[in-house]
Amino acid sequence: LFITVEGPEGAGKTSVIKKIEETLQERGQTILLTREPGGIEIAEKIREVILNPEHKAMEGRTEALLYSAARRQHLVEKVLPALEQGITVLCDRFIDSSLAYQGHARGLGIDEVWGINQFAIGDMMPDCTLYFDIDPAIGMARIAQNKGREVNRLDLEGMSFHHKVREGYLMLLERFPERIHSIDASRSFEEVYEEALSIVQSLQ
Ligand code: C5P
Ligand code: MG
Repeated sequence: LFITVEGPEGAGKTSVIKKIEETLQERGQTILLTREPGGIEIAEKIREVILNPEHKAMEGRTEALLYSAARRQHLVEKVLPALEQGITVLCDRFIDSSLAYQGHARGLGIDEVWGINQFAIGDMMPDCTLYFDIDPAIGMARIAQNKGREVNRLDLEGMSFHHKVREGYLMLLERFPERIHSIDASRSFEEVYEEALSIVQSLQ
């Protein structure tokens, strides 16, 4: 079972799925928690190149290609072997991030970005995607509170970019209503965690 977690900045994805992993482990279930871009050495190195705030010259298509390259390596090196062993994989971001951020918000086109990602992943689409929906104004305010967060190139973007990211996700939600479950991430951590956990449990 391949589950991905998506959403704009500050939606709480990472902390919620960390707690889901802990809960499932306590219950004796094996689950692999991983993230994109990254999750393995080569992809973490590509992540550093993409997100480095000094790389202001990075062009949109270059960025999209690097995300899909990192995705390919992470998929073959980590995700597929786990799935073959019957382990449920919970991945923090996947193809929908590329479609929403590079395809829609950066304006490269959802179908164009879909094309390079098809080359990278073939038919390995997630079985289910949890989309953490939040107004970017709330999300960005949460991020401003989180002092330990890594600085990244996206911090240079204005609010209109983040609104476009959410708009991109909402378009994907309409396009893939069976695969993508929307969760209202503006609620408390507990409420969001409970809902996400119950969806994951219902799938297993
Ligand atoms: O999810 P996480 O915060 O670790 O992602 C790191 C950064 O990469 C975020 O700022 C996220 O918005 C950005 N990103 C992006 N395009 C993607 C995936 C992530 O701009 N396709
Ligand atoms: Mg995160």
